[in-house]
Amino acid sequence: MEVLAPSCVKDKRYIGSSPEAAAAPAAPLGDSHTTAADGLTDYSPSDAPWDTHRAIADDVGGIYAGAVEFERYAARMDACSGVLRFGWVDTPETGETRLRLREAHFCRVRHCPVCQWRRSLMWQARFYQSLPKLVEEHPKARWMFLTLTVRNCPITELGDTLTAMNAAWQRLKDRKEFRPVLGWVRTTEATRGRDGSAHPHFHALLMVPPSWFTRDYVKHSRWVELWGDCLRVDYAPNVDVRVVKPRAPKSGQTPTDATAAALQGAVAETLKYSTKPADMVADESWFLGLTRQTHRRRFVATGGALKDVLKVDEETDADLVLADGPAEGEDDGSRLAFDWRSGERRYRRAPEADKPAGGDG
Ligand SMILES: [Zn+2]
Repeated sequence: MEVLAPSCVKDKRYIGSSPEAAAAPAAPLGDSHTTAADGLTDYSPSDAPWDTHRAIADDVGGIYAGAVEFERYAARMDACSGVLRFGWVDTPETGETRLRLREAHFCRVRHCPVCQWRRSLMWQARFYQSLPKLVEEHPKARWMFLTLTVRNCPITELGDTLTAMNAAWQRLKDRKEFRPVLGWVRTTEATRGRDGSAHPHFHALLMVPPSWFTRDYVKHSRWVELWGDCLRVDYAPNVDVRVVKPRAPKSGQTPTDATAAALQGAVAETLKYSTKPADMVADESWFLGLTRQTHRRRFVATGGALKDVLKVDEETDADLVLADGPAEGEDDGSRLAFDWRSGERRYRRAPEADKPAGGDG
C-alpha cells in the first residue's frame, strides 16, 4: 500500500493557484488522503488520460520554470486545468450514468500537453461534425493523406525552415497537379532528431474527386519532384502519400459513418499534437529552442471545401471542455470536482469545489 508524503501533497493545490482556490475552505483533515479511492480514475476509468497529460504538463512547466524568459508560461501552466468539474450524464443506450466534463480552465500555452491534447480532440470532433455535409455535397470524393518533409535542420534554424516550408506549400497549391483538390487540411509537426536537430514536416489530408485516380493521378515520384521544386532545394525530399481506402457502408451505417471510419487514422495523424510531449522533456534546451523558434507561428491551415471546418480561432474553455464530442443532453447541474495533486500525479476528489444541483454551472 502506498504511503504518501505528508501534508505538502495536500497543500500543493493552494500554491500558485487562483484566488478562489486559495479562499476555498481547506479540505477536511484526516487520513482520507492516504489511500482513499477517490481519484478521477476511480470514478471514471476512461478519464485516465487526464492524469497522464496533466503529469507531463508539470514536467514541461518545470522546464519553463527554469528559464527566466518563460517563467510566465510556467505560471500559466501551473494553473492549467487545476480543477475539473464533471456532471452525471445518463447514457440512454446502455442505461449507465457516467461522468462528463463540464467545467475547466485551460492555460493555452502553445506547447502545454493538456491544451494540445484537448485542442486535438476538439479539432477531430469538429472535423467529424462537418463530415455529414461534406459527404452529402461530395458523395464521390476520395481522401489522401500526404506527409511532406524537409531535411532536418538545427533547432536554431527551425523558424526559417518553417517559413520556407510555408512558402513552398503556397507554391504547391498553385501547381496544376494540385488544382483538382476539393479541400485540404494541413498541420505542422516538429519532432526531435536523435542528434538534437529538428525534423519539421507537414501532414495534409486532401479531399479529391474520383478523377484523381484516373486522369489527374499524381504518382509518388512526381510528388517528390513537385515538393522539391516548390521548396527550391537541390535534393529529393521525403514524401509519403497514401490513399485512404474507401469503405462501403456496413448494414446500419450511413455513408458518413463509413467515411468517418475510413478516415480515422488519417484524421488522428493530421490533427494531433504539433510536438510530442516525450520530445519536449527529452532535451530541455531543444524544447526551449523550439518554443523560441515557433513563437506566433500558425501550425494549421485549411482550404477549399475544408476551409474553416476546424474553426481554429474559436477556442474558449468551453470548446476545450466539450472536446470529447458533442454535448449529450442536460444534467441536473450538480458538479463533482476533482483537483490536480502534483505530488501524486493524479486528480482526486475535491468536494469543497463541488457545486449543488440547480446552480448555473
Ligand atoms: Zn494548458
